[in-house]
Amino acid sequence: TQVYLNGAFMAPADATISPMDRGFLFADGIYEVIPAYNGVLFRFEEHLIRLERSLAEVDIRNPHSRAQWRERCEQLLRANGGGNLSVYLQVTRGAAEKRDHAFPSPAVTPTVFMMTNPIAIPAADSPETAVGARAITLDDIRWARCDIKSVSLLPNSLLRQQAVAAGASEAILLRDGFVTEGSASNVFIAKAGTIATPPKSHAILGGITRDLVVELCHQHGLALEEREITEMQLRQADEIWITSSTKEVVPVIQLNNAIIGNGMPGPLWKALAHHYVQHKRRLCGL
Ligand code: PLP
Repeated sequence: TQVYLNGAFMAPADATISPMDRGFLFADGIYEVIPAYNGVLFRFEEHLIRLERSLAEVDIRNPHSRAQWRERCEQLLRANGGGNLSVYLQVTRGAAEKRDHAFPSPAVTPTVFMMTNPIAIPAADSPETAVGARAITLDDIRWARCDIKSVSLLPNSLLRQQAVAAGASEAILLRDGFVTEGSASNVFIAKAGTIATPPKSHAILGGITRDLVVELCHQHGLALEEREITEMQLRQADEIWITSSTKEVVPVIQLNNAIIGNGMPGPLWKALAHHYVQHKRRLCGL
């Protein structure tokens, strides 16, 4: 296994950072997770655009151009054997001389860390045998800028842990009675043939997978609305899906203690999963 730290490739045990790094002291950093299939980065530009936006929102200098990021990601994928891997990359504000909430001035060099992780075979790859996931609803206890892909993930971690402790795989979050997103995913519902997902705002991360699902629905004539979803609409949905780069589109078949639909992945999910997989195979030469 090879990881990347500040310009060099090395074994994970050799990748060491200062405890003065603001990523360590303040969770002052931004990250991305980019899937690669067959060694080909999937939706790379979209991930890079989001990275640039997140960094700009918190005023961390982007240390690399898009071409440089691509080169480093591809080199890391090759060093780890290619195939189906996700690239995790993180940029922190760097190590200041003293601990101070305010940014170091002048700015210090950002810390860049990257690693790969294997991607499990997603449910959408075999829609006929997919069994679906369980989710629970929880109060969205996070901050007011969830659109920034920040490494400050303690609330997300606490929420996901509560889901896991309850025997579920994801927490679907509610703010003031409306669905925001999952602890690490976006949420879609389907009711009477129409698909819906919350609009992009400061309350959710603009998921790359979310955007692709919206695109695929438009392309293939599936009715989709970007609108607010109430807790009641979530509970009464025919289908619930959660989306993320590494899990793609996962059907939820149980919410809290209630069965969703007939307890099986629904027909709209199957249709969408088919389009998603076709799209991925075409782009990645699978
Ligand atoms: N929402 C949150 C809070 C996330 O952490 C993630 C990704 O892990 C997503 C949504 C899905 O985003 P993407 O599809 O870009 O992976």
